[in-house]
Amino acid sequence: MVKAISLISGGLDSILATRLILDAGVDVLGLTFKFPFLSSDNSLETTKQICKKFNIKCRVIDLSNSKPYFKIIEKPKFGYGKNLNPCIDCHLFMLKTAKKVMREEKAEFIITGDVLGERPMSQRKDILKIIDMEAGLSGRVLRPLSAQCLEATIAENNGLIDRSKFLAIQGRSRKEQFRLANIYRIDHYPTPGGGCLLTERQFCKKVEDLINHKSLMSKEVSLLKVGRHFRLNKKLKLVVGRSEVDNRALEDLWQSPQILLKSKSVVGPSGILCGLFVKKDIMLAASIIASFTKGEGKIVVEYFNDRASLGKDIQIESLNKHKRDALRI
Ligand code: SF4
Repeated sequence: MVKAISLISGGLDSILATRLILDAGVDVLGLTFKFPFLSSDNSLETTKQICKKFNIKCRVIDLSNSKPYFKIIEKPKFGYGKNLNPCIDCHLFMLKTAKKVMREEKAEFIITGDVLGERPMSQRKDILKIIDMEAGLSGRVLRPLSAQCLEATIAENNGLIDRSKFLAIQGRSRKEQFRLANIYRIDHYPTPGGGCLLTERQFCKKVEDLINHKSLMSKEVSLLKVGRHFRLNKKLKLVVGRSEVDNRALEDLWQSPQILLKSKSVVGPSGILCGLFVKKDIMLAASIIASFTKGEGKIVVEYFNDRASLGKDIQIESLNKHKRDALRI
């Protein structure tokens, strides 16, 4: 039986592409990625459920701490989309990884859910061709939803699979995909591309700040999805929890030599100070923590150098909100 690797994002297009290729009698291995900057794990969970429903194996590649992936976000060869989303490089990265899996699994080709013209940046005919070429996969990537509008792949030309079983969908209207979803009874899937925080302006400010002052390869990357961020100086940043959940997350993520701060005398947030600091920087950080409490006058903020030592108390007044907000990233 012919074997293929299907890149499944959890979105409808890649689910349908996988269904079509299974119906064409191909043995499929599902391949998906756990991206570091998604707002939730919904797509990953959907992919796992879909693979179970289709009775195929699912391999997950975790990019949460992937330096090669962070490098492409810092310096994408093909540039960014509207925000810091390097979609073309990201697709290329996925294809290059899929190529390795294809070789390991002795598969013939790779399947993606790309639809010609659906996304202006990464799904143009010329771009798809460039991506395949850059990945060293020319003729080895089959896109079942748009196959009839694209050049035949090697597997189609060799008669390994029947090209007539695939579709000619083009453009941004998703009518045909919804019709197919109905036919195949696929009713649970996240929005396409949804949840990638690199497409969100506010989040990208924090990413950009970290790239400019340090690197995504630093420990601070794990803090990007938590809390409000403040740039205190070129070498120092403070992250302040917005909720109980954030405060707990910060306490879990805190690692030496970062400083953990906690509001002590009144209910208030926790924070992490990261970078090079002197005593007055700890005072400034504590005054920002105090500014998010309802306490009046001086309040007590406790700070910790590491998990092994006891906290030290600082009595401090809140920083003026205008001054505080001017430091916000
Ligand atoms: S939206 Fe995000 S995850 Fe999707 S291709 Fe672009 S950068 Fe990658």
